[in-house]
Amino acid sequence: MGKPTGFLDFPRELPLAVAPAERIRNWDEFHDHADDVMLQKQGARCMDCGVPFCHTGTLLEGMASGCPINNLIPEWNDLVYRGLWQEALERLHKTNNFPEFTGRVCPAPCEGSCVLGINEPPVTIKSIENAIIDKGFENGWVRPEPPLVRTGKKVAVIGSGPAGLAAAAQLNRAGHLVTVFERADRIGGLLMYGIPNMKLDKKLVVERRIALMEDEGVTFVTNCEVGVQLPADKLLADFDAVVLAGGATKPRDLPAPGRDLRGIHFAMDFLHANTKSLLDSDHQDGAYISAKGKDVIVIGGGDTGTDCVGTAMRHGCKSLIQFEILPKPPLERAPDNPWPQWPKVYKLDYGQEEVAAVFGDDPRQYLIQTKQFVGDERGHVQELHTVRVEWVKDNGRISPRELPGTEKAFPAQLVLLAMGFLGPEDQLLQQLGVERDPRSNVKAEYGKYATSIPGVFAAGDMRRGQSLVVWAINEGRGAARECDRYLMGDTVLP
Ligand SMILES: Cc1cc2nc3c(=O)[nH]c(=O)nc-3n(C[C@H](O)[C@H](O)[C@H](O)COP(=O)(O)OP(=O)(O)OC[C@H]3O[C@@H](n4cnc5c(N)ncnc54)[C@H](O)[C@@H]3O)c2cc1C
Ligand code: SF4
Repeated sequence: MGKPTGFLDFPRELPLAVAPAERIRNWDEFHDHADDVMLQKQGARCMDCGVPFCHTGTLLEGMASGCPINNLIPEWNDLVYRGLWQEALERLHKTNNFPEFTGRVCPAPCEGSCVLGINEPPVTIKSIENAIIDKGFENGWVRPEPPLVRTGKKVAVIGSGPAGLAAAAQLNRAGHLVTVFERADRIGGLLMYGIPNMKLDKKLVVERRIALMEDEGVTFVTNCEVGVQLPADKLLADFDAVVLAGGATKPRDLPAPGRDLRGIHFAMDFLHANTKSLLDSDHQDGAYISAKGKDVIVIGGGDTGTDCVGTAMRHGCKSLIQFEILPKPPLERAPDNPWPQWPKVYKLDYGQEEVAAVFGDDPRQYLIQTKQFVGDERGHVQELHTVRVEWVKDNGRISPRELPGTEKAFPAQLVLLAMGFLGPEDQLLQQLGVERDPRSNVKAEYGKYATSIPGVFAAGDMRRGQSLVVWAINEGRGAARECDRYLMGDTVLP
């Protein structure tokens, strides 16, 4: 612990962000780098607690408390305070293959369980993590580290999201010959085609890591849907082991009257096409769903909805409203949501901040349900008819009840459905004949990752359902460890 009184001497400070009204003019990342002095002060705020809850990574009330990959946070906070950046990077890479991803997009459950957070703003763990890895790349400290010895065993990883990438990196480190199959035309899963460029730069950040992994000996195959271009029996015959990391991409629909009108899209269709067109042609090919000049309604108040908001704002939408069926969260932790649980409190995320800057207010409408989509004479959506709801307990179950007299119509020429995901897609899993759990995810025990088929492992959203990048990395690393044990009888992987 570098400075015992750091938490008393320095307030929490975050790196500056480009002003919301300014940053919506482009697709660049918008967080500036903090200077070293500020970061060292922030590192000094860490109290090096005897029990560092920040790196426990347990589930409390279904939400992560502490870092799910058990980053050695107090250790690198201290090293940063002392200016030992390269040593901090070594510590960080011990637990996290991709700190440049988590440092940008992780919601930071570590900060929710920081002990300082009991009565003061927590340590800025996430921005310190990001600064360590960015400095590592800037200084050339992050170099390819191919394994010294190859085992000759061949492993296929299906899906190139953070779970597949983490599994591939670890299995390659153990000396196996790893091939990652991806059905999209670019590697990265939701890091590439889900999370938009302004949150995570594709060319500068995602592709930099892919290139590094290629230099370490991982083979990537794009435009190959396993189960279609590569049948399941051939996959099992050609490889000694398989890690399934195909994500949970089946979207939840809203089967209200008028759903088949034009102009109503799933969030992922909107986000994927937008990033692809941006990367392919700087949007010159027009191969994306444009929000320009439209009244946009985003249904769903989570991260995916926020990314739709930020994207529509960059297109230049005419107005933007976001519907959330749940009540507005409290400003401070509720009594039933104590530290070190994930704080379920109201926050203005980047997309809502941008709407507030341009249109004057947070776009979220709470406790509202869509009853009907109404179209014009060309079959295009024109209006949404809604009703307000309250949550009531009925036979022990809490469900929304409509409030009579609260019906309202909202104009909308573009509606984006961002109401979560139902589970993994079926094609490959049915072909493999792998067992599923009651939520339709691949059945495999957490920590073991073995599916009902010997030599086939599952990790990430495909096993646990739609979650977070940091959990995907945790599971990819764990599945690699168990896969290595299966192949070699023992394992060298953490
Ligand atoms: C819009 C959006 C924004 C998000 N924002 C955040 C965020 O800010 N922070 C955060 O922590 N989490 C965020 N998440 C959640 C996070 O992205 C996921 O939990 C994480 O990416 C899951 O990783 P994964 O590797 O399991 O799957 P994915 O990232 O979904 O990757 C799976 C990949 O497998 C491929 N695939 C599937 N089937 C096959 C097949 N048969 N053959 C070949 N390839 C196949 C898919 O094309 C896909 O590329 C967000 C999710 C969404 C949808
Ligand atoms: S990965 Fe997420 S939870 Fe872990 S230290 Fe980084 S920001 Fe915190």
